[in-house]
Amino acid sequence: SASGSKDHVVVFPFMAKGHIIPLLHLSAALSDRGVVVTFVTTPGNSAFVSEALLPDPNVHLLHIPFPTVPSLPAGCESTDHLPSQELHPVFLHATKLLRDPFHDALRRMAVSGSLPLCVVSDFFLGWTLDVCRDFGVPRLVSHGMGAFAMALCKGIVVNQTHITAAAAGEDTFHVPGMPERLRLTAADVPDTVRAVDPADPVSQFVMEIGEADAHSWGVLVNSFQELERDYVDPFEAFLLSPGARAWLVGPLCLYRRRVSAPDSGDREGSDPCLWWLDAKPPRSVVYISFGTQADVSEEQLDEVALGLDLSGYDFLLVVRSPSWSPPEGTCRRGLIVRGWAPQAEALEHPATGGFLSHCGWNSVLEGLSAGVPILAWPMIAEQPLNAKYVVEELGAGLRVREPAKTAAEGTGGLVGRMEICEGVKKIMGGGGEKGMKARERAVELAKAARAAVVAGGSSQHCLGQLVEELRRVSKANTTINGR
Ligand code: UDP
Repeated sequence: SASGSKDHVVVFPFMAKGHIIPLLHLSAALSDRGVVVTFVTTPGNSAFVSEALLPDPNVHLLHIPFPTVPSLPAGCESTDHLPSQELHPVFLHATKLLRDPFHDALRRMAVSGSLPLCVVSDFFLGWTLDVCRDFGVPRLVSHGMGAFAMALCKGIVVNQTHITAAAAGEDTFHVPGMPERLRLTAADVPDTVRAVDPADPVSQFVMEIGEADAHSWGVLVNSFQELERDYVDPFEAFLLSPGARAWLVGPLCLYRRRVSAPDSGDREGSDPCLWWLDAKPPRSVVYISFGTQADVSEEQLDEVALGLDLSGYDFLLVVRSPSWSPPEGTCRRGLIVRGWAPQAEALEHPATGGFLSHCGWNSVLEGLSAGVPILAWPMIAEQPLNAKYVVEELGAGLRVREPAKTAAEGTGGLVGRMEICEGVKKIMGGGGEKGMKARERAVELAKAARAAVVAGGSSQHCLGQLVEELRRVSKANTTINGR
């Protein structure tokens, strides 16, 4: 910066692991460039965040209190105890009350002359736009989603074409502004953008945060040009601030700080499930996780275990349910991990050959960056869109079940053991052409992902440009405001 002090960025994620994790990686990437990061956390997540950050002299935590709201239990903002569906509207409202403590924090920075180059704000925290304006600091939005899903979600909200199509009795529809070939079904449409009802608090919230997106300085995208090239322009069309653009700086998981070097054989202090993988032949294990949000019933987990057992492949299954136990005899070839597995490491392990995934965007990027093809089982939110992208546009995966045509069929309904068994066989390469093709594509994309984040790569270049541009803006502000 002009004063010769270090560049500084404030990073403020929403309270969910899928939102926090990629921004931890972004902080590492910025730190590598000599940028100082202030990472905002509330009490419930500070242990998780500090542990995940690893010691880094450039990254500092800023603790702000989570508001007390009578109908919400204390500590409810911890990503391990997020409130139930019914409480979501109250919870979303509570996160707006973070405004005052955050405003105070920026004021203190202003007083000490350490205002950041920008605030990287989660899109759920739409109110940070006003705070940023108060201090003349650019707001860079982070969605955690890919360009494909973001462009479609925005296009669906604005055009509501799915409703017109449904009214006309059509199965598929086209979203204006998107490539001609692309057709969606009602089941692809995320709940939050399905029907915008101005009287509904969650709809109102979605509209508010959408407005804040559109008027922010720019959007950070956890993706890379080579992965989502066709959807960057359609997405950028929704950004209304002069000069606002999408900054593709991912896959952020490739900036992950590593406890031990990959393939070093140094497993000291690492998770036992990695040792378990060490003993398996290359590409022989299927890894299964349903992410951190979707609820999977015990009945469904039974089918999963039975299907995996039938497939004959070794498997590593991560389950969040504390009470479920696998049906008798299904774990001869499998390891069940309770709660939390080191997913990115497990996917990168040479023994892992396939990924049965709910298609959260982080999971998709981690799988593809590791060259592991995806057996897609989307459940909620924008996961059906991610699955569509992986399978139909990238060709780097297969579906565990063909998608529903109507919203009513949805993604629900029990997926049976035979479907799971057949899907696993295919993705592991034991079921012919399609699975082999998906693996080839995943390996190609992994190469492209790595190339994007090293010196000279598209994402590394974009991150450099981003910091340059922010410096330029900050200098211009200093000249105008004498800041
Ligand atoms: N994750 C993990 N271990 C687990 C489950 C999840 O490390 O046992 C990580 C995973 O690697 C990813 C994030 O948590 O980085 C989940 O994000 P994603 O977008 O895939 O799904 P969501 O959280 O939205 O369900």
